[in-house]
Amino acid sequence: MAYVISDDCIACGTCIDECPVGAISEGDKYSINPEVCADCGTCADACPTEAIHPAK
Ligand code: SF4
Repeated sequence: MAYVISDDCIACGTCIDECPVGAISEGDKYSINPEVCADCGTCADACPTEAIHPAK
């Protein structure tokens, strides 16, 4: 399992500093590397647009 970032991402950069394992990459929409994500949920709590959710 990993968290994923949806199209609601506004590329604000809030989450990237919160991830303890450096799984988040910048872009037009930010993305999470599922191989690195530790499934902690910290980024989801930090996201102002609630764009980050656990993968189904
Ligand atoms: Fe990083 Fe945790 Fe978000 Fe995974 S769930 S991308 S480990 S902050």
